[in-house]
Amino acid sequence: MIIGSHVSFGEEQLFGSLKEAISYNANALMFYTGAPQNTIRKPINKDYFDKAIALAKSNNIEFKNIVCHAPYIINLANRKEPEKWDFSINFLIQELNRCLELGVDKIVVHPGSSVGITQEEGINNIIDALNIILNKTKDVNILIETMAGKGNECGRNIDQVANIVNTINSDRLCVCVDTCHINDAGYDVNSFDKYLDEFDQKIGIDKIKCIHINDSKNELGSHKDRHENIGFGTIGFDALYNVLINKRLENIPKILETPYIEIDAKTKKPPYKEEIEMLKEGVFNPNLFK
Ligand SMILES: [Zn+2]
Repeated sequence: MIIGSHVSFGEEQLFGSLKEAISYNANALMFYTGAPQNTIRKPINKDYFDKAIALAKSNNIEFKNIVCHAPYIINLANRKEPEKWDFSINFLIQELNRCLELGVDKIVVHPGSSVGITQEEGINNIIDALNIILNKTKDVNILIETMAGKGNECGRNIDQVANIVNTINSDRLCVCVDTCHINDAGYDVNSFDKYLDEFDQKIGIDKIKCIHINDSKNELGSHKDRHENIGFGTIGFDALYNVLINKRLENIPKILETPYIEIDAKTKKPPYKEEIEMLKEGVFNPNLFK
């Protein structure tokens, strides 16, 4: 089982991220290189990076199970303001270069939102942007994420993702499947193999390089995108556990992005240690956070 969670990337950068992941007994992790809401980034610190390599090694964490996530404010779909589109492209190029420096070979990217244009135009802009980025970078794989279809989000169904991936047709363009997003997009996670069959037929299952394991606060097909703790949402523990142990996705990192638990009005704590332990045991505990 390759499982981890979203972790922070603070002063100590990947070294700090690894320490946090290890505290959750995780063997995979996902980080943003700075705040997900902005694009302020610091250069990679060599000393902390060396420490990160040693720490990963002594804890048997393989770098192929470390995933980066691009900030969600960048938008490759909208070209109405060309300087913003260019900024998103250039920022992603820098992110891929930071991944390369860190020895991380996967970055998850939200395809983008087609505000004020058709979804088809949005997808064509995404394809153009990804082609530019792939041509100006090397080695790091871009994983476009399956989205819930909130507002004008592109990548809301298998056909749209297939359009992007198959048109670009690069070994370095892959997919990250998010269970909350596909539920909200209208795919029943209880029939996950059916989803995988359609995915395999239209894109190819080998393109899936990361799974985000999240429960959902909303009903199937709600197009909302609000994550819930494992077993506490509308998807439920059994369906999510079956994704985790699905033989067709055995060697792929599974990443939790579930919400922090409120202890009191001022304090919240990460749920990941408890959720990972529960998923390793394979039995739902309704009193997990009590
Ligand atoms: Zn995401």
